[in-house]
Amino acid sequence: MSGRVVIVGSGQAGVSAAFKLRALGYPGHIALVGEEPAAPYQRPPLSKKYLTGVADADRLLIKARSLYESERITLRAGCRVAAVDRIRKQVLLAGGEWLDYDYLILATGATPRRLPFDQGGDAPNVHTFRTLADAERLRTEMKSGRSLLVVGGGYIGLETAAVARSLGMEVTLVERDQRILGRVASAETAAWFRALHLANGVRICEGAQLQRQAHGDKDGTTAWLANGIAIGAHAVVVGIGVIPETRLAEQAGLRVDNGIVVDSAGRTSDPFIYAAGDCARFLYEGRPIRLESIQNAVDMAEAVARSIIGGAVEYRPVPWFWSDQYSTRLQIAGLNHGYTDVVVRNTSDTARSIWYYDGPRFIAVDAINDAKAFMTARQWLSAGHSPDAEAIADPGVALNAITVSDQNALIN
Ligand code: ADP
Repeated sequence: MSGRVVIVGSGQAGVSAAFKLRALGYPGHIALVGEEPAAPYQRPPLSKKYLTGVADADRLLIKARSLYESERITLRAGCRVAAVDRIRKQVLLAGGEWLDYDYLILATGATPRRLPFDQGGDAPNVHTFRTLADAERLRTEMKSGRSLLVVGGGYIGLETAAVARSLGMEVTLVERDQRILGRVASAETAAWFRALHLANGVRICEGAQLQRQAHGDKDGTTAWLANGIAIGAHAVVVGIGVIPETRLAEQAGLRVDNGIVVDSAGRTSDPFIYAAGDCARFLYEGRPIRLESIQNAVDMAEAVARSIIGGAVEYRPVPWFWSDQYSTRLQIAGLNHGYTDVVVRNTSDTARSIWYYDGPRFIAVDAINDAKAFMTARQWLSAGHSPDAEAIADPGVALNAITVSDQNALIN
């Protein structure tokens, strides 16, 4: 089989798809087209080590530059795809060039949600945070003695707050909902991280609606909350979630619904177009979801590569995710959507795991400084096993001594 695959988006999903196609023996032409000018890099360290200045940009590369040539992957960096012509099976690059494809993979990722204009959305010292360029800009603002306002208490906001404190900044975090981590974690997990940040000197305002922000200058800005409190800051970081990048798919008439809709093989409503990573929406245990994680970007892209080579391959993820804050490492396995019960296991003063159940079914864990709990939970989730909740709650019972039941039996 010869042929041509064009991949739009040179983030983790795009790169994984390209290299997996080659590793599986795809002999044709592979073009990886990415809007960002840099060679493809890993994003997770950006809001962690990279911001502290410990890591340098070359260490972020997903693949060494030379590998694109040796694997015959044509990397078109700094190049935007303007349109897809599904009838002619071509994509139009912003410069006017057309590329033919037999298969197209959309790995277009997601874009950070911005604050509205009157809340400072376009002000020069207000930063969203996703790309290497964002991190470079932010690094120049993050200095000891300066102050930072973080808007949004999700993982991006919390990680940025931790880095800022470790750099000696004064940090205030504003969360609109009643508590931090409302979208992604239980109250128990949120309580741990709230305590961690308070102990490290972050001022946290929950249930706090940002109302207005002055259009600041280089000396900083002032933000007003709905309750009248004014917060002065040299810089602002906004981590209020992302919007899947679906414009191309929409223009091309593909099915889009909070993400590019794909089947279990990663195929869109056009059989010659696939999607993978943050932009793709698929069914997970009967529910439509998108996952914003490295695990999903890599595994889904690799499943897409297999599907293109050998016919539809089902993508069945065991989601996992991690977050580093100060010296705490959180590892998450599974998805807690729709949980009905939470069981806390206190392994030690510094290690805790929070286990999510949907009725009797174990569905996810947040493991805080507890790699063993994470690894064991992942194995159980992959095998479809549910550990006994009472035993989980008792740290005196070793994980490997806990009785498990078959999840399928629990569903029926
Ligand atoms: P991210 O991946 O950017 O951390 P999440 O959706 O996990 O995204 O978390 C974003 C957090 O920001 C949520 O807790 C949400 O309630 C909060 N949020 C959203 N909009 C605002 C806002 N205007 N002001 C403050 N917090 C906000």
